Amino acid sequence: MPAITTLRDWDFLLLKRYSPQYLKKEDECSLCTYGPCHINEKKKGVCGIGLNAHLSKMSLFTAVTGAAGHASLAESITSELIEKFGSDYPLKLNDEPLQTPLIRLICGFKPKVLSEMKKVTSYINREITSLLSVLNMGQEGEWIDFESKTLHAGMLDNLALEVIDMSQIATFKFPSNSPDTPLQNSEFRIQSSEFRNPAILCIGHNSITGIEIMQYLDENNLSEKIDLYGLCCMATDMSRSPKGGVKIAGNQRDQLKFIKSGIANVIVLDSQCIRTDILHHASKMGIPVVATNPECSLGLPDRTGDKTEKIVDDLISQREAGVLIFDKKKIAQVAAETSIKRIKIPNSKFQIPNYKIRVGRGAISDIEIKNVAPPIVMGEIPGIIGFLGCPNYSHENGLLEMARALIDRDYIVTSGGCTAIDLAEVDADGKSLYEETTGKFDAGGFANLGSCVSASHLLGAAIKIASVMLHRPIDGNYKEIADYILNRVGVVIIIWGPMSQKAYATATGANRLGIPVIFGNKGERYGRMLEGNKSCGWEVTDMRNKREVFAGPTPAHLMTTADSPSEALTLAAKLCMRPNDTSKGRQTKLKNYIELDKLFSGSSLPDDIHLFVRTKYDIPPKYEDNVYDKLKKMDWKTVWIPDPTLLKSVEFGKQ
Ligand code: SF4
Repeated sequence: MPAITTLRDWDFLLLKRYSPQYLKKEDECSLCTYGPCHINEKKKGVCGIGLNAHLSKMSLFTAVTGAAGHASLAESITSELIEKFGSDYPLKLNDEPLQTPLIRLICGFKPKVLSEMKKVTSYINREITSLLSVLNMGQEGEWIDFESKTLHAGMLDNLALEVIDMSQIATFKFPSNSPDTPLQNSEFRIQSSEFRNPAILCIGHNSITGIEIMQYLDENNLSEKIDLYGLCCMATDMSRSPKGGVKIAGNQRDQLKFIKSGIANVIVLDSQCIRTDILHHASKMGIPVVATNPECSLGLPDRTGDKTEKIVDDLISQREAGVLIFDKKKIAQVAAETSIKRIKIPNSKFQIPNYKIRVGRGAISDIEIKNVAPPIVMGEIPGIIGFLGCPNYSHENGLLEMARALIDRDYIVTSGGCTAIDLAEVDADGKSLYEETTGKFDAGGFANLGSCVSASHLLGAAIKIASVMLHRPIDGNYKEIADYILNRVGVVIIIWGPMSQKAYATATGANRLGIPVIFGNKGERYGRMLEGNKSCGWEVTDMRNKREVFAGPTPAHLMTTADSPSEALTLAAKLCMRPNDTSKGRQTKLKNYIELDKLFSGSSLPDDIHLFVRTKYDIPPKYEDNVYDKLKKMDWKTVWIPDPTLLKSVEFGKQ
């Protein structure tokens, strides 16, 4: 399994092509007691660290924090599932072994039972400790090595995502490889009688707590009497349970709104993305809180060992604003009984949107991969787009318009995380985009993969496409597969509302795998982008004759931002181009790029169109005259279409 420098040479290739742009010109560092140090282009820290090295250290800090969030969840979920289902529980669904492309690619083996996930989490934990050690004062000193380690943190994050989702798919029988998951309707009519029902609101990321509550309600015939609501990833994962029964109340951003609506009788918290002042806001509404995770204990008394009746009594009488309980069964009992006993007063001032979401479908099946792999690699399907991540955008976010525009142009569009929930908001006619489309992973399809951890399935699909087309093994073959994806698989991730360290880590891991990421403009606050370096020449090695050939900026960036939906669409069309596109494929991609850029910039042609035309056959017939005029002005010359790689040819077969 790769240590922190094993993939350093691949990282350096990427970082020389997509050199980091640090968005700060100065910074203050207080990481040790020599500080605080004011660092700028002329002034180093007392320890000798220069501005770029310091900013790259901060980039590592963000990525490793995010990766640790998912790694810790992977560790706790696998431990809890082993306790519940046994260490030999098979990693299967419908009697078929689960595919784990990221684990195979990075760790070089295929886990068959739950306990083998522990080999992966041990590896992740070891590497994260090593990366944390790098952050000490007096360790790494060059930006390029900090950034290589940032990419390593991202890769570990991606690995943790797959561990989490495959473990819960195998044990809880969440859907996977399933394009036709049902639509789930969460209707909120504030005056309706349904809000008189007692209600439990779950917030967080660990589905086990929510599933335990669902089971308790089911076993005690309470499912019809108590409403169960979820926010954020816990909601999307609970909705994947075959029994159903949870209503998605919104995304991470909606916490305050839902608390103030007064609908919840009790709030159950797990881990991650929770408002740190949630206890304060819940207390103001008189809503008791049950915290359940050691990483989010909120100063509450640990009542795990106390009797349920006593805990419920203390919550109802408001002797305690909240309690901390670690025992899953007791959490379910306390939540259910508190919700029944507490009288609530819903507040009609707070409107909750209605959502109709297609339940997360999990991984992409081998059959679907085999069908789309050739047209994706040839460029005839213009690209795969993943709308993933957090909701750090205004309500008028343009998400639906972006998804619709890409679906209409036959991109394969996928969703996951909080963004998948926002894409489920219904229009004035009560319809959502999921209803109007199919969940297939194919041209014009709109596949909801699941919660944030389902980003692993998009990465897994890219790996499987590469493996099918390259006819090379996945196991331990990271560089070759990443090189293939970068040069041939037109997949792009859009994280329109970037907020968390976890989103940065996931995006950075995708970058190491050769997948570009477009952030909404809040992404600038991460402080570092990986944009195409004009001085790199955009050359690749043609594997047929081992010669360097100009391939154009394909893809032009690995991590960038867009200020508006129309800019993001233009960028998405551009970043889906790959050196290996056939002329027919490039025609389709260029047509999309020209038309989407026109909507964004108003120009008849993108300024850089000449960089993407390799031969006259690449030019979309509809724009032939315009493009020829531009090519003449730019002194354009034909180049041949390579069999592209960034790796030196001798590296093939080495791994
Ligand atoms: S780590 Fe270096 S730059 Fe930061 S406070 Fe210490 S001496 Fe200053």
